[in-house]
Amino acid sequence: MDMYDNPLIVALDTASRARAKEFRQRLTGAVGAFKIGKEFFTAEGPDGVREVVGDAPFFLDLKFHDIPNTVAGAVRSAMRLGPRIVNVHASGGRAMMLAAADAAAEGAQATGRERPLVIAVTVLTSLDEDDLATVGQRTPLEDQVVRLALLTAECGLDGVVCSPWEIDRLRRECGRDFKLVVPGVRPSWAPGGDQKRTMSPAEAVERGADYLVIGRPITEAADPGAAAHRILEELQRG
Ligand code: C5P
Repeated sequence: MDMYDNPLIVALDTASRARAKEFRQRLTGAVGAFKIGKEFFTAEGPDGVREVVGDAPFFLDLKFHDIPNTVAGAVRSAMRLGPRIVNVHASGGRAMMLAAADAAAEGAQATGRERPLVIAVTVLTSLDEDDLATVGQRTPLEDQVVRLALLTAECGLDGVVCSPWEIDRLRRECGRDFKLVVPGVRPSWAPGGDQKRTMSPAEAVERGADYLVIGRPITEAADPGAAAHRILEELQRG
């Protein structure tokens, strides 16, 4: 199991250590990495993360957004857990992103681990143009996504989290090496849930997604391991 040869990142969206451990057991070997988010981290903390992920690759999805010094400290602390991906909000700005990238490099060196990918969230996919206007941003949404992605690249970060519908434009604007980590994908056989505009995993990869973040189609399947394998087979068929 590794992120290099398996693009599936499964979201362990639970507050329960026991449930997260069960997923880890059922999914080791079937997915490339686990994603630990705010729900699990806030409930079970760093010890919970260590116990659940063990030595498996994981994405620590805490979306830091604060003054540069505070974000640098958070990223350094995160490095003690050895994540393979960490993230921040691009709207925290240039100085904050530079501080995050430096802290990840320093933290990795201090712990003798490989530097994680440091990626940014551009515009949350839960927001639409009306929501942006209410917080004073009157730019078309997609232009704001591209603006923040280009700033992310300029700061030396590795990529962004993006909706499958943003892949084409971001690949054109940010180049082949910029990592695109893509949630909001649904196999045709899984319920859509609250994700509104979805795309199949195979189409997202074909368009240029590097990693797919998938939660419920795997975690709510009767057999999560089989669901992950089924998605992988679909990707291999293309
Ligand atoms: O269950 P589902 O496949 O919808 O889970 C997707 C995961 O990706 C969740 O952890 C969710 O928080 C995350 N995510 C998302 N949309 C974004 C960013 C992250 O669904 N734009």
